[in-house]
Amino acid sequence: MGNSLETENIVIIGSGPAGYTAAIYAARANLQPILITGFNSGGIPGGQLMTTTDVENFPGFPDGILGPDLMDLMKSQAVRWGTKLIESDVISIDTKLRPLTIKTEDETIKTNSLIISTGASANRLGIINEDEFWSKGISACAICDGATPQFRDAELAVVGGGDSACEEAVYLTKYGSKVHLLVRSERLRASATMIDRVKNNSKITIHWNTNVREAKGGNWLEKIETVNSKNELKDIEIKGLFYAIGHTPNTAFLGNQINLDERGYIKCNPGRPETSVEGIYAAGDVADSEWRQGVTAAGSGCMAALASERWLTENQLSKLIKRDNVEPEKLGNEINIEDEETNEKTFDINAEWQRGSYALRKLYHETKKPILVIFSSPTCGPCHVLKPQLKRVINEFNGKVVGIEIDIDKDQDIAKQAGINGTPTVQLFKDKLLKKQWKGVKQRSEFKEAIKDLI
Ligand SMILES: Cc1cc2nc3c(=O)[nH]c(=O)nc-3n(C[C@H](O)[C@H](O)[C@H](O)COP(=O)(O)OP(=O)(O)OC[C@H]3O[C@@H](n4cnc5c(N)ncnc54)[C@H](O)[C@@H]3O)c2cc1C
Repeated sequence: MGNSLETENIVIIGSGPAGYTAAIYAARANLQPILITGFNSGGIPGGQLMTTTDVENFPGFPDGILGPDLMDLMKSQAVRWGTKLIESDVISIDTKLRPLTIKTEDETIKTNSLIISTGASANRLGIINEDEFWSKGISACAICDGATPQFRDAELAVVGGGDSACEEAVYLTKYGSKVHLLVRSERLRASATMIDRVKNNSKITIHWNTNVREAKGGNWLEKIETVNSKNELKDIEIKGLFYAIGHTPNTAFLGNQINLDERGYIKCNPGRPETSVEGIYAAGDVADSEWRQGVTAAGSGCMAALASERWLTENQLSKLIKRDNVEPEKLGNEINIEDEETNEKTFDINAEWQRGSYALRKLYHETKKPILVIFSSPTCGPCHVLKPQLKRVINEFNGKVVGIEIDIDKDQDIAKQAGINGTPTVQLFKDKLLKKQWKGVKQRSEFKEAIKDLI
């Protein structure tokens, strides 16, 4: 494969189905695209499907597929054909001069064409005490946080009336004793199948014409105050409040350089990927407030890549990469190999990475090295993102630090003892003392700094 280009052919922003599909097409056209995955500001690498469980409607998977697994497969396909990934958020772009300029947190990239596929982010309600109880009972992702010990057999609530709200309410009945679905109007805006599932689930109670005003509690959420359309106030005792109230397109970083609609979605001609600026294309949810599906995002990613390829050719700007092998090596079993749970026989005090409570207990008592523990749950997409990052960090320390993964679904007692209230949570131990804790996906540098201080 050739070296990096001074001015790129195509930069793709966003790593959801739209971005990865665009990358697969552009890479197969020998354009060696750069894909900036995003990290924090507009959702995690892999996009919204990293926050869901079974995807049953993406063609090609007759038994359904877990959202994070689907995104891992798309990523592997894009990388196999030569896409270069940059793990960062784009802060700004400059469309005034050619080539275009893209600024990330760490670098500036020049490119002839650009595909924007930055999706949309979950909205917050802005209720009283929201910040205080964020991650202490309030969450925007039932699928990520539902398995948390505090939510088990407790009453929970979901706010919203669309497909996401219904899906989350049904999902949470796996864990909670009862789920209150708080709907601000007098009807659900979900698909007929979703509505049936909600209405036929005896653990779900729907509260119509209801808004949430305030979160209340001590160290953890204990109740919410709601108000109905007659202005009547009511407290509902719950341990978890989950938001499913729609999305805002991730377009703030564009400034005013590309035409947007009144809600901030990128304006394209109907059914086409061209934006108001020549050579810049949009794909997926960032330009689609209506269909917002994995497969529509992927389809529009394909259109954006083909349109961009044509435009580069017409303007004699494309610089094609020469491949060493016409057909890149197949990945086979390299994708999605889950680590085995460590047991008495497989435990190794010097192993870089192990899994489960047995390994944690042994290392906690027997090793002098720092221990990095990731608390994950099987359906947690952000955990998929973070695990390989942590493995890379540990590997860079050449055996001076060890890592363990604890599945909070399997090892509930350990999760409770460790005070885990959401996944992913990472804890760093040394000499049986907790030195540092992180919640959510963080940059590798943060873990490295903390480990360096202990070695
Ligand atoms: C809970 C849930 C369940 C769903 N279930 C289904 C389902 O079963 N089937 C289905 O088809 N669809 C489903 N969807 C919808 C589907 O996830 C979206 O339609 C699809 O992910 C949109 O893809 P996208 O590529 O446009 O954007 P997204 O998936 O939103 O990805 C956007 C990407 O852009 C990145 N980004 C954002 N801002 C920046 C920035 N400034 N710099 C760099 N990168 C940035 C983000 O990190 C992310 O990688 C579901 C959605 C949710 C929330």
